[in-house]
This record gives sequence, structure tokens and C-alpha cells, in this order.
Amino acid sequence: MSHNDEGAETAKAASWVEFFADQPQNKLRVFDWSVSGFETCIVVHGPSFRLALDIGACPPQAISADHVFISHGHVDHCGALHQHMRRRQLVGLPPATYYVPEHLVQPLIDIARLFSVVHGDEDEDNEGGSAKLSTKDKKSKKEDATVADGASAEAGSDEIKIYGKIVAATPGDDLQLSKNLRIRPFATDHRVPSIGCLVYCKRSQLLPKYAGLPGAELAELARNGEQLREARWEPAIGYTGDTRFTVLACPPEPDLLKVRLLVCELTYVEGPTDTAEKYGHCHLHDFSSRANLFDNVGQLLFVHFSRRHSPDQVINAVLTSLPEELRSKVYCGLNALRFYRS
Ligand SMILES: [Zn+2]
Ligand SMILES: [Zn+2]
Repeated sequence: MSHNDEGAETAKAASWVEFFADQPQNKLRVFDWSVSGFETCIVVHGPSFRLALDIGACPPQAISADHVFISHGHVDHCGALHQHMRRRQLVGLPPATYYVPEHLVQPLIDIARLFSVVHGDEDEDNEGGSAKLSTKDKKSKKEDATVADGASAEAGSDEIKIYGKIVAATPGDDLQLSKNLRIRPFATDHRVPSIGCLVYCKRSQLLPKYAGLPGAELAELARNGEQLREARWEPAIGYTGDTRFTVLACPPEPDLLKVRLLVCELTYVEGPTDTAEKYGHCHLHDFSSRANLFDNVGQLLFVHFSRRHSPDQVINAVLTSLPEELRSKVYCGLNALRFYRS
């Protein structure tokens, strides 16, 4: 078995975590695959969406994600872009959309096109027999102002197909991904230009004036034609990508600290805090000293641990450093760290 095969087997065996399982309308299934500098891909299945946050690896769980957010250009966050495109094509899934920092749109299109050239064999059968994205289809998408579809002039690569749509995600944008899903990117504080995102889900909610009424009374009002519910956009998930703690201490979007699930980088759990500052990451000390910042966050998933820490070190450090109130809603994403430290 090759190293890659072993990785795929391990990724299959690694576990999903369910958040808010007692609330079907809020239930989130999350698969974490993240080690600092190595690979990050967080897959989230929500009530009506499948989303990957970064694509520095393409574990089997990520293939079905038809929306992929890329936070920055470090290879551990975007290096498996072409694998994701190729694997979706191979199993007959339609092209995904990739939401990436504006300055990376053209380089990532160029890389994807070059991988198409390297891969060759465009007429090879795929398992599901889905239609490929033709150059003609792609050109028609040029009408869409959000799709950067420029080609590398030198290579004349306008004619080279890529299996996906690469879209600019700019801080402050409201990007509608589907009827019930949108994302809002925000700038983070890393050592290269980087963004995080807020994921909003549309949910039908009882109007506040009817809260607390007994079910029979509500049913009677509904029979009389009263409008009892309204649709609201809720901040479901926050994703920090790579960042210093400043983005949490002074959040660019207030909703970042009101989300149901905050997927947050935590690279260092021990050692000097100036290393985190230097490399543009968070340190556990940041969270233990500012725990009250997270009072209104539903739950936290820490990811992106340094490979210098063992999974046991991570768990012990989190258990001993964080105050009880924060610790009780924290989960450490260790699937990839367990693999790389085994
Ligand atoms: Zn990283
Ligand atoms: Zn980075």
C-alpha cells in the first residue's frame, strides 16, 4: 500500500463529529482534517448544504462538497484544488464552485488549467458519465461578473477546460451559494493576505410575538390564517482560516462571535506565544486569557494544530488551560494529527 493509499484509508476511518444533534434544524456534521503546514480541509454537512472549508487535502468526505471556500494561498489550504475537481468529475458529480481571495482567482485558474494539461486524456470515461464543463459553457459564464475566467495569455490557455468555477470572495461580500445558504468573507490577520468566512443559513422561525404560546393556540391561529413564522438568515458557522488572535479580539464581523459553530485555528497549545505572533497563528494562551469573548458562541471546533504537538498534549493542554465554561463547548479536531503522528 502506498503512503497515499494509507492516507485515504485513514481518512475513511477517521470520524465525523455531530454538533447540535438534538436540534434537527441546526444539526451540523463536521469532518476535520487539519495539521498546520501539512493539510487542512474541514467538511461541513448542514441541513441543506455540503461545504468544504479549505482544500489543502481532498479526503473522501470532501468530494461531495459542491461549495469550497479557500482562505489563502498556503499550499496546506489550497494544494488539493485540482484533486477535488478531478475526483468530482471521476464520480460523476457536477463541477463545484470555489470561493477564493480575489488575488488568487487567476493563479488558481492557471494552476487548474496546467493540471488539466498535465493530466491530459480529456475524453477518458468517468464513473458517473456526467457532462464535462466545455469551453463553450465556460465562455457563456463570462456574463457572470463574479467569475474570473481570464486565461494565461502566454499559454493561450483560454481553450483549456477546468472542471469547476473559481469565484472571487472579497471581505464584505454577501455571496449567495443557494436558496438557503450564503457566505460573507472577512479579512484575517495572517502573514499572507487571508480571509475567513461566516456561513449563513436561512431558517423559518416563529415570530417573537408568538413565542411561548401553547401548541394548540398556535394551531388555531394558523387555521385562522395568521402568519406565524418568518424566514431569517442565521449565522451558523464561522471559519477563521489561519489567523492571529486579533481577528477574534476585534472581530471584523460581530456575528463571528455569535455563530452556532466556530471553526477556529489553534496552532500552538504550548511554548512561547511570540512564535504564534511571528507566524500569524493563535496560541492556547489567547483563548484561556480571553475566554469570555466566546460567551455567545454555541460551540468551538479547534483545528490546525502544529505537528510538534501530540494529540494527548493537545487534549491535556486544552483541559488544563481553559476555564470550565469555555472548555465545555470545545472540541479538538485531531483526525489528521493522529494520522501524521502515528
Ligand atoms: Zn495553515
Ligand atoms: Zn497559512
